[in-house]
Amino acid sequence: PRVRDIMNRQVISVTEDEEIQVAAKRLLRGETNHLPVLDGNGTLVGIITTYDISKAVVSDGRLRLVKDIMTREVIKTSPDESVDIAAQKLEHNNISALPVVDATNRVVGILSAIDLGKLFGGRR
Ligand code: SAM
Repeated sequence: PRVRDIMNRQVISVTEDEEIQVAAKRLLRGETNHLPVLDGNGTLVGIITTYDISKAVVSDGRLRLVKDIMTREVIKTSPDESVDIAAQKLEHNNISALPVVDATNRVVGILSAIDLGKLFGGRR
């Protein structure tokens, strides 16, 4: 199977100039632990997780915006990539989700370890 067959198309994201609090609220509300970060043009420029928010909390208030704490080197995938390759990216980088981008670096989905799990056991 390809990434497009199992990716989640309902992506919750945040923009780089929003406050960390906005991102934290979105993480608390949504069913996700990963927020792709977009710039003003809707292009993927980073990713943040609860891990990054925790780091911000212990930084005694110096870090205020999403762009101050996001991971800028995003490991990502595309709709046409094979699920096997995507799974290897997760494993090798010790992460649990990959934004799915099109050729212009716009986010069209998110692929998480949970989505991969659905391929095995469980739903048939
Ligand atoms: N790297 C740490 C370690 O090995 O102990 C933490 C584990 S990793 C799950 C957490 C970090 O990975 C966060 O800073 C988050 O922004 C980053 N991260 C999560 N998904 C990512 C992705 N697809 N591409 C790049 N970084 C990602």
